[in-house]
Amino acid sequence: MFDVIVVGSGGGAQLSAVRAHDLGLNVLVIEKSELYGGTSATSGGALWIPLNGQAKDDYASAYTYLKAAAGDTATDSKLRAYLESGAELIRFINEKTALRYKVSEGYADYYPEMPGAVESGRAMEPLPFDGSLLGEEFFRLRPSHPGSLLMGMSMTIPESNAMATKAPGWIGVALKILARYWLDLPWRFKTRRDRRLCLGNALIGGLRQAMLARDIPLWLECPMQSLIVENGRVQGVMAHRGGHTVMLRARRGVILAAGGFERNQQMREQYLPQPTRQEWSVTPANINTGDAIRAAQAIGAKLENMTLAWGVPSVRHPDISQGTQAIFAERGFGGLIAVNQQGRRFVNESISYDRFYEALYRDHAKTGGSIPAWLIFDAQHRKDCPLGPLLPAAVMPDSKVPKAWWGDFVFKDASLEGLARRIGVDPTGLADSVRRNNEYARTGVDQDFHRGESAFDRYWALRNAKPNPCLVKIEKPPFYAVKIQPGDTGTKGGPAITDDGQVIAETGEPIPGLYCIGNNAAAPLGRAYGGAGGTLGPSLVFGFRAVNHLARTT
Ligand code: FAD
Repeated sequence: MFDVIVVGSGGGAQLSAVRAHDLGLNVLVIEKSELYGGTSATSGGALWIPLNGQAKDDYASAYTYLKAAAGDTATDSKLRAYLESGAELIRFINEKTALRYKVSEGYADYYPEMPGAVESGRAMEPLPFDGSLLGEEFFRLRPSHPGSLLMGMSMTIPESNAMATKAPGWIGVALKILARYWLDLPWRFKTRRDRRLCLGNALIGGLRQAMLARDIPLWLECPMQSLIVENGRVQGVMAHRGGHTVMLRARRGVILAAGGFERNQQMREQYLPQPTRQEWSVTPANINTGDAIRAAQAIGAKLENMTLAWGVPSVRHPDISQGTQAIFAERGFGGLIAVNQQGRRFVNESISYDRFYEALYRDHAKTGGSIPAWLIFDAQHRKDCPLGPLLPAAVMPDSKVPKAWWGDFVFKDASLEGLARRIGVDPTGLADSVRRNNEYARTGVDQDFHRGESAFDRYWALRNAKPNPCLVKIEKPPFYAVKIQPGDTGTKGGPAITDDGQVIAETGEPIPGLYCIGNNAAAPLGRAYGGAGGTLGPSLVFGFRAVNHLARTT
């Protein structure tokens, strides 16, 4: 018999387990997969925490911004709860675990035009974590997304930004990463995996080490199947373990943190904007299939926000297990435009990925031609800039691009007109869009979509491009097109929750003993994606609050 059972092993789940232990509770974590960490382990590990106690910020602007971003999709009390608990969460992590979070300098909020937005200070990142502290558990940590590694070596957000944007000193940054990896000789004999854990691997490695230090059990390959309700209260879960169904009892409560439903095609068709495909998601394949959303619904939970997802344009990557790669940052580089089937731009390409995803659906509803959409660029851009699976041609020339990629998601032609015909896009529209882009590159002003006007737009742009780093001419043949689709890093809908993460029933009352956080729950900040870390931030903050509530009241 346990006090608390946590279902899932992503960031919010493990943080909740550690907090519960420190409040004197006896905790078990169960995880469906043979690896722990979920999508959180493959993520950037950023947490968007306004008023985090490290950067200058003020309550009025943080609240105004969050309110503007969420609109009527989140209650006022949840926004306030979020703002009130962030600093305490960061202090807890930095003081009670070996994981360290600091402000990610220069990483601007995602809606720069909204009142209260800041150009730096709310996005936080983990410092690299030494994976050797995990012992054998290192090998059960879900590996980073291959797209976040430099030939297998891990990088922090500032390191990858410096290299991608060719900031002053970027070559030194690259050499240091290489040297650190190859000089780590004893570890190199053990495994090719880097023990310097960065991004989501640092978050999950750090929290897992905190669990190990406290002897908190984590049972892998133990999927929850249903919830046990007795006398009107959730008393535990039924799960599958070692070929048997087992009854696991929790005296004080169950915390559902089993992710969203992004890998469940049937649920996607039922709830999300159409068209939608589970294979467009950039999350690990197969794990987050909405099991715990359905289990909560079966005992009367009310579902909310089911039409929303954490959107990101994605590109097929045939050679990795996820099958897709997110285009988070590469849209920032000038010399690339996004067009629909009419060959027309429909959005500021450099805006945040969540907004880009919304623009894909908006334009598709209008023109019928944005799913898929196309990223168009020339030989110069191809040489200098990465794009999804394609590394810059300076590193991965066309001759080294796997043959199977050509005509699958990447296309090339000596002329723009030929390229348009290959991909089924209107050549006149495309020629006109490129002509306009080239004119804007000369003047530095994007008269159609104001690209490059905000600090956010310019964070991921080549520093040496002038006058506007997000606007560069497309003129040097051959020309290229990459096919993109509306992917996601998870879904936002699930059981409605209170300000303390308690699941709310259809009757409007909290269900005693049941809590829900992360993408398993209806996103407490609604549609707001405030900045880098806008999904994991709420997951950890509401996990922290849920445990505090559970320890206090049950
Ligand atoms: P997960 O981390 O996916 O954890 C859910 C776990 O539950 C999984 O391990 C799954 O196996 C398990 N599970 C599922 N069903 C069951 C069951 N029946 N029983 C037991 N266990 C079950 N967000 C940010 O905020 N900051 C970032 O920097 C960031 N970068 C990202 C980069 C990439 C490449 C990707 C893909 C995503 C990124 N995201 C980021 C999004 C973020 O990773 C997710 O929104 C977040 O990890 C979701 O956390 P979660 O705990 O809800 O789900």
